[in-house]
Amino acid sequence: MKQNLKIYNTLARRKEDFEPIKPPHVGMYVCGPTVYGDAHLGHARPAITFDLVFRYLQYIGYKVRYVRNITDVGHLVDDADAGEDKIGKKARLEQLEPMEIVQYYTNRYHNDMDKLNVLRPSIEPHASGHIIEQIEMAKKIMENGYAYEKNGSVYFDVSKYDESNDYGVLSGRKVDEMLSATRELEGQEEKNNPADFALWKKASTEHIMRWPSPWSDGFPGWHIECSVMGAKYLGEQFDIHGGGMDLLFPHHESEIAQSVAANGKQPVKYWMHNNMITLNGQKMGKSLGNAVSLEDFFEGSQKLIEKPYSPMTIRFFILQAHYRSTLDFSNEALQAAEKGIKRLFQAMETLDKLPASDKSTVNIEELRGKCFETMNDDFNSPGLIAQLFDGVKIINSVKEKKESLTESDITELKSTYNDFVFDVLGLKQEETKDDNKLVEDLMQTILGIRQNARTNKDYATSDLIRDNLAKIHIQIKDTKDGAEWSFLD
Ligand code: ZN
Repeated sequence: MKQNLKIYNTLARRKEDFEPIKPPHVGMYVCGPTVYGDAHLGHARPAITFDLVFRYLQYIGYKVRYVRNITDVGHLVDDADAGEDKIGKKARLEQLEPMEIVQYYTNRYHNDMDKLNVLRPSIEPHASGHIIEQIEMAKKIMENGYAYEKNGSVYFDVSKYDESNDYGVLSGRKVDEMLSATRELEGQEEKNNPADFALWKKASTEHIMRWPSPWSDGFPGWHIECSVMGAKYLGEQFDIHGGGMDLLFPHHESEIAQSVAANGKQPVKYWMHNNMITLNGQKMGKSLGNAVSLEDFFEGSQKLIEKPYSPMTIRFFILQAHYRSTLDFSNEALQAAEKGIKRLFQAMETLDKLPASDKSTVNIEELRGKCFETMNDDFNSPGLIAQLFDGVKIINSVKEKKESLTESDITELKSTYNDFVFDVLGLKQEETKDDNKLVEDLMQTILGIRQNARTNKDYATSDLIRDNLAKIHIQIKDTKDGAEWSFLD
């Protein structure tokens, strides 16, 4: 199946522009969170998107080395080259060590991702653990003539690079337009050109997070961490680089420029970008996005959230949209997802008890083939979910004896659901807070014991069970297949 895998490549804007990924090894790098606050819905989308990619690639037999970093230095407020470090600012406000902030929010991020059943990456490097490599890469870029030093800071020379390369290859932007559009920000005056970006910044006296370098006591620019950690763990050229669409420019555009300037080659075969989450059709603003944490969703503890939504509801909601499409948040959409996942798991329970026939009237192999086909088409998770719901119709028809399946086809159908629902989509059964399922399971046990007694003509026991249940307002009705129970009003 893997030879048919097609990935949409942001860089090429076509699926087929690069040679297919060669089995068995895949290197995948995804930009991870900047850990200065709780994870919100906007963090869940890239995490779940690339978890789906990670899971599916492994499922079809690739050996995947998945690197997802923790950004704990160099990401400044406003995503620009001036201003406070996001971590440093939080540390100042909370009067904590920056690394206490990093540890605290990294733990909370892991906890949220575990709840969402997002697998941990193979390697999770921290930017602050790779300062030496970042200095080395900046030196190399300078030696190659694509960076310059000003007052202890080092900047990437965008127009110099653009003479012989294309700064804009990923985003489709043109350097000339960037120059006229870039607004002058405070602290940017020392750049030759407003489009240039920092590889190293000299720290002001009040800046807490600082390291020695050949140029100044300072800290690395935001973009260079990913170029460095990608190359260190996956090589100078690797297969997949992912992240949210909001990172496409300038972060990923600049990563390409840095790697080409340092190593003379394109660093990544496939660039993949998940689209944004919108609210009533509008891009979910940063302030709003940050206001509703994943915990708020799980607890229902925010005015925008009508009720608690379980982690699997959130996961299913995200997987119901293709990663390249925008996803509109609303309570209705989440409640629809909640119903959808319930229907899927109910069908899987029915599937477990499906009676076998000596011939099949439905083609299960074809359904399984379509599941692979949709996933091979650029990880089309909504397509896969639609196939699984087509299968739900088959399961219900077999249950109602309108269609029939052989023993081996039922086994095939079960493994299709197990593989695609649990392993690929990464969904799992959640303990429900209400006790309905427990009551149902207990009642089935009791009815089983009573049925046994009746078979053994032990009517004293079967009547005792019936009478005692009646005392707690549970009624038993014998049917030709066994017995049914209900609560007496
Ligand atoms: Zn990054």
